[in-house]
Amino acid sequence: MSLLVQKYGGSSLKNADRIRSVADRVAAEARSRPLVVVVSAMGDTTDMLVDLARRLSRRPEQREIDMLLSTGEQVSASLLVMALHERGCPAISLAGWQAGIRTDSRFSTARITDVNVDRIRHELAQGRTVIVTGFQGVGGDTGWEEVTTLGRGGSDATAVALAASLDSCECEIYTDVSGIYTADPRIVPDARKLDFITHEEILELAQYGAQVMMPRSVELAQIWNVTVHVRSSYTPDAGTRIGGNMEYGHRVAGIAHQTGVAKVTFVGLADRPKVAQTIFEALTRWNVHADMIVQNIGHHGRTDLSVTVPEDDRESALAASEDVRALVDAQQVTVKGGMAKVSVVGAGLSSSMEYASTMFGCLGDLGINIDMISTSGIRITCVIEGGRAQEAVRELHAAFHLDTGGGAWQDSA
Ligand code: ADP
Ligand code: ASP
Ligand code: MG
Repeated sequence: MSLLVQKYGGSSLKNADRIRSVADRVAAEARSRPLVVVVSAMGDTTDMLVDLARRLSRRPEQREIDMLLSTGEQVSASLLVMALHERGCPAISLAGWQAGIRTDSRFSTARITDVNVDRIRHELAQGRTVIVTGFQGVGGDTGWEEVTTLGRGGSDATAVALAASLDSCECEIYTDVSGIYTADPRIVPDARKLDFITHEEILELAQYGAQVMMPRSVELAQIWNVTVHVRSSYTPDAGTRIGGNMEYGHRVAGIAHQTGVAKVTFVGLADRPKVAQTIFEALTRWNVHADMIVQNIGHHGRTDLSVTVPEDDRESALAASEDVRALVDAQQVTVKGGMAKVSVVGAGLSSSMEYASTMFGCLGDLGINIDMISTSGIRITCVIEGGRAQEAVRELHAAFHLDTGGGAWQDSA
């Protein structure tokens, strides 16, 4: 049988009992085929480590953060191997650097540059199942080897990158829900599990808050042609297959939401070329990821420009704005926090304006004000007050009849 890469998220490894149950599953699979397993840190370990760092330092160095966070995955990898040995399953744990995962040297958001699978192949050839720590690699443009981490949720990217490098073409992502749903099943009880979803659809859902897959892992799967199945480590459900193409997409695949959003507005700035570029260069220098961008019509040589940024980056966004305020001649910079994005995603959205009016109508009926709107070919996103996001998701899910399969092509829109 061909090689398989499996990934178990923190939610599947949160305690000794869950590690035992993952070990049962891995040992059973390893009897019939070569297996590489990527693991995340146990439960909320990464959040706990981030919190600990913040308690000890107001601005910890990113290098030290990566040294710290990478330990979480080592704990689960070694414990899983111990549980496998108990089951008579030959196995070995490898940290990212031992598994040949090279990255650039951007701490906390490192990109995988190369994977040398020699060590993994060697261990597999000895009949061992290889357990690799997710979310990390080794980078070294400074001349020294440094431990790097890939960004939150990064074990998904590790798993897909390994599948691509090992020519496995198949990767199973195990989590605490049965697959990809029409909305977060924790928020929308009647959300439906999708049997398949296109790369484009899950990429948009993930980028706009559906935590179930890290967006970069979806990009990797598409580029390297890896088939991904998202499945539950708790039940035997067949899960969701990511694949197909736009022709096989859904009218509306699902609703995503993201809280912890802040809006930064440059008020009354000069309405002249290069102003937007100056602002974005400053935000990039300060490592702030700004995404939705809205510029108003100019009046008398002045205009307003707003961007959304993660609330956690609020201070850096303000510092970046101060850097360039005089250059772009802005009268004021304001920040409004506590906001959320709600997004409707599906291949059908490109074909009719009806979807936008259903979305705006639904939010309007709830008395929810829309602060900003952005669209892609297959997504409509509205920025709204954060406190109303969950209610908005539930009502949008009903308005698009996603509970009864109304988002599928075979049904009338
Ligand atoms: P893991 O620990 O396995 O990496 P995550 O917490 O990162 O798990 O992702 C799984 C969670 O993603 C689910 O528990 C669910 O609450 C959330 N989620 C958000 N949107 C969706 C969606 N559309 N489909 C499935 N799960 C979703
Ligand atoms: N443990 C890391 C995180 O919590 C990576 C992952 O879970 O994929 O973000
Ligand atoms: Mg995850």
